[in-house]
Amino acid sequence: AKADGRGTFRFFEPDMDAQLQSRRALEVNLRKAITNGEFELFYQPQINLKDNEIGGFEALLRWHHPERGLVPPSEFIPVVEDTGLIIPLGDWIIEQACKEAAGWPRNINVAVNLSPVQFRNRSLVQSVSRALALSGLAPNRLELEITESVLLQDTDATVSTLHQLRRLGVRIAMDDFGTGYSSLSYLRSFPFDKLKIDQSFVREMSQRADCLAIVQSVANLGASLGMPTVAEGVETEEQLLQIQAAGCTDAQGYYFGRPKPAQDMVHTLAALRHT
Ligand code: C2E
Ligand code: CA
Ligand code: CA
Ligand code: CA
Repeated sequence: AKADGRGTFRFFEPDMDAQLQSRRALEVNLRKAITNGEFELFYQPQINLKDNEIGGFEALLRWHHPERGLVPPSEFIPVVEDTGLIIPLGDWIIEQACKEAAGWPRNINVAVNLSPVQFRNRSLVQSVSRALALSGLAPNRLELEITESVLLQDTDATVSTLHQLRRLGVRIAMDDFGTGYSSLSYLRSFPFDKLKIDQSFVREMSQRADCLAIVQSVANLGASLGMPTVAEGVETEEQLLQIQAAGCTDAQGYYFGRPKPAQDMVHTLAALRHT
């Protein structure tokens, strides 16, 4: 009677234990990483296609693990979200990005990604306003990127938070546009300052007519609604020509530059001013 369903379940236990344990270890390491200052922001340029100038940089989080080296955000963001660590970490991200951007030329903006968990936290607006005050960064140089998942619960609270952020003078960009369930209806709930076209469409645009059509439609939509449209993940000249023809106003991707530490970025800016 022991070798029944229960026996089968036991068979899976060691795996689940191992998974849980490595997750716990990761959590412990992430807590330490925050106090030890193992996080860094890399910056990737966003290019204004009208004048081919850098309009700003997107801050992208990196973790320098003492043994594993550089760990990409996809490996730890879900854990910091589940554990609530994203709240203190997110505050650090906003402060750090504002502090660093305050040292850049005044026409260069900074974009910061917000997790839906941060967004639901009551103290977000206060955190942003504190970071602006501490750094002295002009609010209109800060752009907050949110994904459609933030708006899944299309509640009054969500829209009210967006309006409070906007009242601080910061701009709001919709990230990964086109990948959600009802992208268009979100545009009715809240007026965004910018649409970022998800890189999956840009990647496949040269082979797939439907992806190209989506990129063109979003660019047209942005133009009609008076919203700049950024094509993400531009890697080749061919893609650049296509998004330009489609009418996207801005571009971001490896073709223009990979995310780099803040120090390297200062060189990028200096080099640009000499060309
Ligand atoms: P995302 O916000 O959509 O960021 C764009 C991602 O695409 C970045 O990956 C960037 O390095 C990558 N990328 C940029 N250009 C190209 C390209 O031409 N080709 C390809 N293949 N990839 C390109 P990364 O830095 O690994 O970040 C992944 C995701 O992790 C981000 O997606 C964002 O959702 C999240 N993330 C990163 N930093 C933060 C942060 O500070 N806070 C929060 N909440 N999430 C973050
Ligand atoms: Ca983003
Ligand atoms: Ca994106
Ligand atoms: Ca994404």
